[in-house]
Amino acid sequence: MHRFFVEPEAIARNTVTIIGPQARQMEEVLRLRPGDSIIVLDNSGWQYEVEIADLDEARATGTVKGKSLVTTEPQTKITVFQGLLKGERFEYVLQKGTELGVVGFVPVVCERCVVGQIREASSGKWQRWQRIVAEAAEQSERGKLPMLRPAVMFQQACENVRGFSVLAWEREQAVGLRNTLRHRLQQAPKGKKPGRLFSLNLFVGPEGGFTPEEVQRARGYGIVPVSLGPRILRADTATIVATTAIMYELGDLGD
Ligand code: SAH
Repeated sequence: MHRFFVEPEAIARNTVTIIGPQARQMEEVLRLRPGDSIIVLDNSGWQYEVEIADLDEARATGTVKGKSLVTTEPQTKITVFQGLLKGERFEYVLQKGTELGVVGFVPVVCERCVVGQIREASSGKWQRWQRIVAEAAEQSERGKLPMLRPAVMFQQACENVRGFSVLAWEREQAVGLRNTLRHRLQQAPKGKKPGRLFSLNLFVGPEGGFTPEEVQRARGYGIVPVSLGPRILRADTATIVATTAIMYELGDLGD
């Protein structure tokens, strides 16, 4: 069944009204017809099975037939702080990260970022990025849309970050991602059960990497620099590999 994230206002009691591009997609691309069923999500973690009552290219209405909680969201909420990348590489991170279950993306302006990328992050790409995230979330049957946050400066990102945070650094030799996670799982903070991690922030650099000063600064804020092994990965690869490895270690890719 096709899935659509909609604004919460689109669902009023038992009636769903979808307007704009989604209605057009339903009518013209997917060729849905009255009587067909779809899944509608309002980003609350619930999903609604909806039978289409009426449909044209501008507007679709339907009736809610059932409601259930979505159970596909990962236990550990990973937020990716991504040094700005060239357009299509950042889009790759958004798409694959969403499929994996990342809950938030924060583009980060680093010392080795390129001016063009900064302009892109602050301009017209926003809607396109949002669409990539939504499509990936629908396709991968997520229950919630990952948050796409506005770009921030590296310093600001370090200052505002809360909770357990790691930074992928290719020059780190002593501290690996896996041991860092295992250590953290054993040493739960006061009041928290060991063996669980509710959230994690993952910092990955731009193509040119973090500067040594940036790594030092991050350390000062309690962010742990970690290695992903002896080979240098491209930035977009590093993000997806680190996310996968963290989820695997924490059991979020199945047992
Ligand atoms: N140009 C840099 C490499 C940057 S790789 C250089 O040659 O030194 C881009 C980003 O991917 C890095 O900032 C880091 O966050 C991540 N990364 C790539 N390979 C990594 C590894 N082996 N361990 C940890 N992080 C890595």
